[in-house]
Amino acid sequence: MDEMNHEIMACRRCGTCCQKGGPALHLADLDLINSGNIPLASLYTLRKGERAIDNVSGARVRLTSEIVKIKSRPDSETCMSYQDADKACAIYGFRPLECRTLECWNTAPLVQIYAENRLTRRDLLGERTWLAELVQAHEDECPISRIEVLVEGRASGDPSAAEELSRIIRYDHHFRNLVAEKGKISPDLLDFLLGRPLEGIITRQFGVKINRSPQDSGSS
Ligand code: SF4
Repeated sequence: MDEMNHEIMACRRCGTCCQKGGPALHLADLDLINSGNIPLASLYTLRKGERAIDNVSGARVRLTSEIVKIKSRPDSETCMSYQDADKACAIYGFRPLECRTLECWNTAPLVQIYAENRLTRRDLLGERTWLAELVQAHEDECPISRIEVLVEGRASGDPSAAEELSRIIRYDHHFRNLVAEKGKISPDLLDFLLGRPLEGIITRQFGVKINRSPQDSGSS
């Protein structure tokens, strides 16, 4: 190996991979979360049917199953654990599988594990806990596949689709508030438990701007 290749084949701590978003988690990361080294509040869920960038192909794809990820900063794609000042990972000793596997000069190891054994909310919440039931109730009421159909119906001028879309947005909004208030769940956990708010997903994914009434009743 010549010197130039050696330079390329090692992490130079440029931070580029961390600035492209947090990693998706895998079953191998379960202990990092259960031990509290990666808190649940630092996670969010991309729900089945959402569009997301595939970190391997770079293409925007429709998810065929959910993905639990480490959150990005509110104002950018940069992983929330990335520290600009020293270009370092705040949880380096406990960084997830994808981060430990990534070699930007050779994506083969990442490709091998990327779509395998992804962690789900159920893996973290258990099968029959009240939180798992709550997640399922929300998923049953407003799956992304249904949202997609309603957005298309609304775009083609179907008033009942527009009405139902508004109802589901209101449901999502109130469900989140209810879980936080009555369930005494920290608002920081909602994006993990229920995915990100529907109105944001609809705007990002379908380009539909949501106008909210003063009473927080969603309407589109
Ligand atoms: S967890 Fe750490 S290594 Fe992984 S993307 Fe975030 S900052 Fe980078």
